[in-house]
Amino acid sequence: MTRSNNQAPYAVELINITKRFGKITAVNDISFAIPQGEIFALLGPSGCGKTTLLRMIAGFEKQNSGDIRIQGEVVNNIPPNKRECNLVFQQMALFPHMSVAANVAFGLVERKRPRPEIKQKVQEMLDVVNLVGMEERFPHQLSGGQKQRVALARSLALNPKVLLLDEPLAALDRKLRKEMQGELRRIQREVGITFLYVTHDQKVALSLSDRMGVMRDGKIMQIGTPLEIYETPQTRFVAGFIGSCNIFSGRVLSKNGNGMRFEDQYGHSLCVPDCKLTDKDLVRGISVHPEMIEILPPHLAGSAEKSDNLLRGKITDVFYQGDFTELTIKIPETDCRVTVHLSRSKDCRVPLKQGGEVVLRWDACHSNILRD
Ligand code: ATP
Repeated sequence: MTRSNNQAPYAVELINITKRFGKITAVNDISFAIPQGEIFALLGPSGCGKTTLLRMIAGFEKQNSGDIRIQGEVVNNIPPNKRECNLVFQQMALFPHMSVAANVAFGLVERKRPRPEIKQKVQEMLDVVNLVGMEERFPHQLSGGQKQRVALARSLALNPKVLLLDEPLAALDRKLRKEMQGELRRIQREVGITFLYVTHDQKVALSLSDRMGVMRDGKIMQIGTPLEIYETPQTRFVAGFIGSCNIFSGRVLSKNGNGMRFEDQYGHSLCVPDCKLTDKDLVRGISVHPEMIEILPPHLAGSAEKSDNLLRGKITDVFYQGDFTELTIKIPETDCRVTVHLSRSKDCRVPLKQGGEVVLRWDACHSNILRD
């Protein structure tokens, strides 16, 4: 099986990388490292610089400043074909006149590898991507997902030091995309090659990666495991981008015991866990996931615990989503709207109809501190 056996701890290291296109700074002084064998996802909105970063690692763009290391070696002046990192992207064209086997063999033939080695490698790769038996088919005889598997096998056959994937699944329908995400993880575990996966789809990044970086305007805002990014976003941007988080801007009034008293911009007093920041003035807001909020009928609000957060409001929208229902609740005399996700199994003792008066409740521990 193909395994990267290089001893360098990192497959990719970016050190103070900046890239400008005229007046636009597409990538702004970015530094991070990807350990060998990791699936790292770069997530961010359109135009934030993800593709530019990937193209610089591949060698198709030259950074204005900073160093790129691949498996410990500085590659700033090494041309793309010598960097041993392959790029897979969405409109990955297969050669239409070549069979699946010939497509997978293409890079190895170009490198003039011996025939028996090529044959063995093609079989090995087709096995990894589950396409054994389709060797003689042509691209027009394949489904979208199968074509992506061939493209992947073609890149993996070259045993790259890092595989760079630029939204390769974006063109697939939702079901196939999910299936291919699982397949990508399985394949990566099997071959052990480092994957750097660029996407603007939060769900793909969360479910696929070992670690992820969230980008905005050419900068990395936060790096962490999917769990860390989802549960403890550090800024309003990351909280807003990663999911339909409720964000309350405000400040900490006081620290008391294990918690802090927080006042949002409308004057609601909320209880939040102590964020351990030495300076409570650094707190800019809190985020609360919609699935962590409960809905109570107004007459039960009195039984709430001291550490509970309570807000009274009126239901303005009810969106049935199948596995859960999304509610929008407006807090009177403010323009504050809170999103709540009720799973089908959650016991809700309130009729979910527009105009219904409710009390929202969540545990203090579900309030996440935001520093920007
Ligand atoms: P998307 O998800 O839409 O692909 P992205 O995050 O990959 O976006 P980039 O394609 O890296 O973003 O673009 C970052 C910024 O750099 C954008 O403002 C873009 O317009 C600009 N840019 C990218 N390539 C060039 C170029 N060759 N010439 C001029 N500007 C460019």
